[in-house]
Amino acid sequence: MIRINENYLKLQTSYLFSDIAKRVAAFQKAHPDREIIKLGIGDVTRALPRVCIEAFHRAADEMGNDATFRGYGPEQGYLFLREKIATEDFQARGADISADEIFVSDGAKCDNGNIQEIFATDIRIAIPDPVYPVYIDTNVMAGRSGDFRDGRYDNVLYLDSTAENGFVPNLPEEPADLIYLCFPNNPTGATITKDRLREWVEFARENRAVILFDAAYQIFIQDDSLPRSIYEIEGARDVAIEFRSFSKTAGFTGTRCAYTVVPQTCTAYDRNGARHALHDLWIRRHTTKFNGVSYPVQRAAEALYSDEGKTQVKALADFYLKNAALIRREISDMGLSCAGGENSPYIWVDGKGDSWKFFDLLLEKAGVVCTPGAGFGKCGQGFIRISAFNSFENVRKAMSRIREAKLF
Ligand code: PLP
Repeated sequence: MIRINENYLKLQTSYLFSDIAKRVAAFQKAHPDREIIKLGIGDVTRALPRVCIEAFHRAADEMGNDATFRGYGPEQGYLFLREKIATEDFQARGADISADEIFVSDGAKCDNGNIQEIFATDIRIAIPDPVYPVYIDTNVMAGRSGDFRDGRYDNVLYLDSTAENGFVPNLPEEPADLIYLCFPNNPTGATITKDRLREWVEFARENRAVILFDAAYQIFIQDDSLPRSIYEIEGARDVAIEFRSFSKTAGFTGTRCAYTVVPQTCTAYDRNGARHALHDLWIRRHTTKFNGVSYPVQRAAEALYSDEGKTQVKALADFYLKNAALIRREISDMGLSCAGGENSPYIWVDGKGDSWKFFDLLLEKAGVVCTPGAGFGKCGQGFIRISAFNSFENVRKAMSRIREAKLF
């Protein structure tokens, strides 16, 4: 008899985005003339940079000619892209990462989700709350979570991110083996200082743990004292894997390109205490289950590292950050406290009550859609996430509607 992986039955169905869609549809039906502005989604809205389009065209022409056609590429990614990543994203900031430690992929979501396969199933995982749901759900699927009770899984060590700790979790008082961190954070928009990140690296070294550092939003960091990569911290190479994505950096959410860094010196242990290089395990996994990102996409990603590409990427980030600054200013002027928005496209607003009530109020009185924070974990209750991914005009209109509705 064929049987299922029963861990899947433990997954909590996330009604978050379908509930939002239902409420928005009901509102639109009841008020067909009201224009709704969506500041809920985490998807970008602006076109790909010009350099990418040009690189795509050139690569498509190469694929149309027998002399320059390319079939399967290296699973780890073409060296022309991995070398650019290593020198520009890491070595230029003093982080000692080389091209052979980079794994190009079709998304940070898959990498974040797949990486747990190379670790034992009976390890202790530490996951922030609120959180990008992929970290939790993929561990539930793998059987690490235990049962779900009172809004949390039994075997997960939750790292609370609250206003009290500035949305940067405190070190746990008990040991953990695999620690997820995400900065700039989705959904809170919080960032971490080098000193705080150093504490986490030291914790990982002392506990023989590994940190999975999700830096998908690093492009939005404006404050140069903040780390863009965990490898800016000494000793992190031995205990951290980092995830990056071109999705938010350059509008690649629909184009798909990302990468994961697994340093050669990063290790974990077998049951007898012998050390193994995670790089060896990940290269085995990656080459077995993945056949590489398409050549034109990798050429488009490479183009982002040219001088023109850098200027165009910066313009994209600046565009969304201008929206974020406006949201932050308006929300603060209304007397509400918020985090994020300065080095991040997300603004995390404290509604001091129920997230869904806050959501309904904004929709009904201002015709603005946000994301209720409760959907990201227990600690998100009372908050909403406002996203800066929209046109400046729409953001301005949304903010003036909220102000005029005198909700607060
Ligand atoms: N990591 C975080 C924290 C995200 O918020 C997202 C997307 O919203 C991703 C990773 C996914 O990135 P990608 O588009 O590369 O799969």
